[in-house]
Amino acid sequence: MQLPIFKYHPDPIDTRTFVTSEAECAVCNQKTGYVYDGPVHTVEEADEDDENQASICPWCIANGNAASKLKVEFSGFFSLSDHDGIPDQVKDEILTRTPGFITWQDQIWLVHCGDVCQYLGRAGGPEIRNLHPEVIEQIKEDYCSDDLEIEEYLDDIEKEGSLVALIFQCRHCGHKECHLEAD
Ligand SMILES: [Zn+2]
Ligand SMILES: [Zn+2]
Repeated sequence: MQLPIFKYHPDPIDTRTFVTSEAECAVCNQKTGYVYDGPVHTVEEADEDDENQASICPWCIANGNAASKLKVEFSGFFSLSDHDGIPDQVKDEILTRTPGFITWQDQIWLVHCGDVCQYLGRAGGPEIRNLHPEVIEQIKEDYCSDDLEIEEYLDDIEKEGSLVALIFQCRHCGHKECHLEAD
C-alpha cells in the first residue's frame, strides 16, 4: 500500500516515524499496517496520556482527521515560532498534517527560500560524507576551525549516537542544511 505523500517529510518510513503495526487506528478504526511513532502535542489540556498513546495511521495524519478529532499536533508550535513570513497555511500543514520527528532538544523545522524545508532524517558522519556532503561546509563553519578538525568532528557524529545531524532540504532550490543535536 502506497503511503500518502507528505510534502515536508517525504520518507517517514525511512525516518521510522511510521512503524509497521497491526494496531487499529484510533481515528478511522482501520488497520492500515502502519502507525505513527513520532511526537504528539495536545492542543488542549487534559487527557494528555490517552491521546499520546492513541494509534494513528498515516492517512489520518495526511487528511487532518487525527489532528482535528484528537485535538493534537505533530510538531510543537515552538518548532516554527522563530520563522516570520512563513504562511499560516504552511505552519498549519506542518503542525496538523505532517508527521513530526523525535528530538532530544526542542524540535525545530529549518526554513529556506521562504518555506519550511523537508525533513530528510538523521545522519551520522558516514551518511553526511556519502549522502549529504553539502552540509559539511556548514558544520565546518559553525563548529570547527580547520580542515583537520572537521574530519574528526564528522567521525563523532553518529546516526544512532549522542551527537546526530538532522538533515533538511529546501523544496525550492535543493539547498541542504543540518541541525546538530546532542543528547
Ligand atoms: Zn486512520
Ligand atoms: Zn532554498
